[in-house]
Amino acid sequence: MNLSEVKKILEQEKISPLKRFGQNFLIDSNIARKFAATLDFDEKDTVIEIGPGLGAISSIILQSGCSLIAYEIDRTFSKFLKKKFSSFDNFKLIEGDFLKTGLSVLRKTKAPASLFPKETAVGETAAQAPASLFPKETAGRKIKVISNLPYYLTSSIMFALMENREKISQAVLIMQKEVAERVVAVPGTPDYGLLSVRVQFYCNSKKNFDINRNAFYPRPDVISTAMKLEFLGEPRHKVQDIKLFENILKVGFAHRRKQLRKAVAELLGSRKKALEAMEEANIDCTVRIEELGIDKITRLSNVIYSKLR
Ligand code: SAM
Repeated sequence: MNLSEVKKILEQEKISPLKRFGQNFLIDSNIARKFAATLDFDEKDTVIEIGPGLGAISSIILQSGCSLIAYEIDRTFSKFLKKKFSSFDNFKLIEGDFLKTGLSVLRKTKAPASLFPKETAVGETAAQAPASLFPKETAGRKIKVISNLPYYLTSSIMFALMENREKISQAVLIMQKEVAERVVAVPGTPDYGLLSVRVQFYCNSKKNFDINRNAFYPRPDVISTAMKLEFLGEPRHKVQDIKLFENILKVGFAHRRKQLRKAVAELLGSRKKALEAMEEANIDCTVRIEELGIDKITRLSNVIYSKLR
């Protein structure tokens, strides 16, 4: 899809791109193809697309014959997509907010014989969607995710994907370059934060390539980056209690400039116990969470766990 095609569709359908939904369409078909090619998938896969918009990426994915389940919040686009892909029985559209519907519709992976019957292939609303959207032949395979993310939801969507890590094997995502830099940031740098730790704990991540602002319409203010996340079967380090670990991250990074021992003291109920725990984990008691690598945070989490039992 190029700029004049996108403009023509928007005019025909009387659509104006909405900033509040982060609508910046890919208008460079070479970039769209290059981006889609970073996802390792074949016709047996089920691919989830968040925010198909006018379908620039969806059409490339659909050509491969795999099953595509796309979530689109904007009803005007849904209407357009239903028409555009009406001949594809491997296309399923879920109309609504991905963050609200999430992957719960995919929860049951045992599929009935026919999951993509022609007459229901497009236009399911979240409420109407069948319990399982996995075609029979893909049951057992983890899903793959592709998205030119709406920028305003980048972190929330990435967190939602990580919450569903057991169902996902891979995600390729277009995001702001500065967010991609936060994802791969190392301890002790300003970019290092909750997003870095979570992604690096649950995934292998790679910045694939940068995308110029001219590749989108409307043109965004910033450069974008295409990233690939490969979800690890098991988190990078063994944690005794994942909820406790997540809690330490949340509290720690909410007060990233404060010494971590204060948050540890709150968890353990005393300053003394906090100092003991940090010593046992071999972590300097003046340290701030933003200086700690994931291995050390994990170690501390496991010591705190043993003291809480
Ligand atoms: N995939 C298209 C492309 O690359 O040209 C459009 C990408 S545009 C950056 C983001 C898309 O996400 C828009 O279509 C927008 O309506 C949709 N969107 C925004 N918030 C959403 C949400 N919460 N759930 C599902 N889709 C959303």
